[in-house]
Amino acid sequence: MDWFIGADEAHIKRERRKARELRQSQWWKRRCAKGVCHWCEQPVKPAELTMDHVVPVARGGMSTKGNVVPCCKTCNTKKKQLLPMEWDAWLEGVKKSSV
Ligand SMILES: [Zn+2]
Repeated sequence: MDWFIGADEAHIKRERRKARELRQSQWWKRRCAKGVCHWCEQPVKPAELTMDHVVPVARGGMSTKGNVVPCCKTCNTKKKQLLPMEWDAWLEGVKKSSV
């Protein structure tokens, strides 16, 4: 019953549009200017940071300042591919290996 926890199409369209607008904002540019991935805490070129929804739009997440973080492409891809538990484990490994 996947459809039950998924967000409806109108929500997804609206939040994706808001995300595009947020990406143009000074607030977002300032966040990216720090050049650090929110998840793995590695230095990333501002131009290579992507916008990630902490709670994915497809799961009912919103494109608000509290729910979007700048992260590197690797984390963005991994977070989409992995289950929450696997994602936590992967992230722990990345942080440890960078110390
Ligand atoms: Zn990262």
